[in-house]
Amino acid sequence: MRKRILAFIFTIALISTYFFPTMMFTSDALSSDIITSSEITTDEQVNYQKDSAQTVQTTAAYTLQDSTVYGSWSDSYLKYNCYAYALGRTDNCWPGRFSTIPNIDNFNEYASVYKLACDVKADLKSATFSNKCVNMTTTRPTSLKSGQSCICIRKSSDDYHLMKLSGSSWYHKPGLSNPLKYKYVPSTSRKWSDESSFLGVDYAPSTYYDSEIYFFIYSKEHGSIKSTWTGKDYHSQSRHYYLYSYDCSDCGEHIKTEWTSVPCSGPPCATPWSYSPKPEVV
Ligand SMILES: [Zn+2]
Ligand SMILES: [Zn+2]
Repeated sequence: MRKRILAFIFTIALISTYFFPTMMFTSDALSSDIITSSEITTDEQVNYQKDSAQTVQTTAAYTLQDSTVYGSWSDSYLKYNCYAYALGRTDNCWPGRFSTIPNIDNFNEYASVYKLACDVKADLKSATFSNKCVNMTTTRPTSLKSGQSCICIRKSSDDYHLMKLSGSSWYHKPGLSNPLKYKYVPSTSRKWSDESSFLGVDYAPSTYYDSEIYFFIYSKEHGSIKSTWTGKDYHSQSRHYYLYSYDCSDCGEHIKTEWTSVPCSGPPCATPWSYSPKPEVV
């Protein structure tokens, strides 16, 4: 029965290819998608095997040093990593997946932390997450405004790790581990490790993240818009015109540039700006 179905599908495929050559392209695209997803699965298996090997090598009991286990074990943790956890997703993610690097084959784990941070920023601004306001900074925020979220990224030479702020604590999920609650605040004065916890058992770290840390403070809408005179102005008839730049005070993004005018009897012009002009912004 199965053979018959296969033969039937094969025949249909041949006919389709003959009459609709573009079907070949569609079919190729499909098979390459299948290869991609199987590769992701293989990656996950490798990670899992690495973790299993770690289990075998660990003889003495280990207790988590920098974090505590957050919540109880779920097999679903084996399906997603630190970035997915930081983003609130349950499928495997990598910096750039939603913007600059849709295919994991093109992801480079040796890239600089700055490069990966730029990819994270692009993801946060992508249509998938649609955060208009993303402030990327190496300064850890001391507080968040309503509607803002915060995650941060750091690197070892060949791996990356993310944490997210929730309430006043930082949480993270090393690889396929149970989520953990960090005992400290992210700081370059303390290395991060990939110590982990599976099925209620803690495992010692094998990787340390010691790069610069990039924080992302993000929200769906921009914060308050501040206006700054660009230094450009001119007089025309009975009015004086000034060019202002409007920028988000949270992320610094330029929103718009606009001329505004005030009544002016000059020349000589007697508006306050004329007495102490600021340098022209290029
Ligand atoms: Zn903004
Ligand atoms: Zn004037």
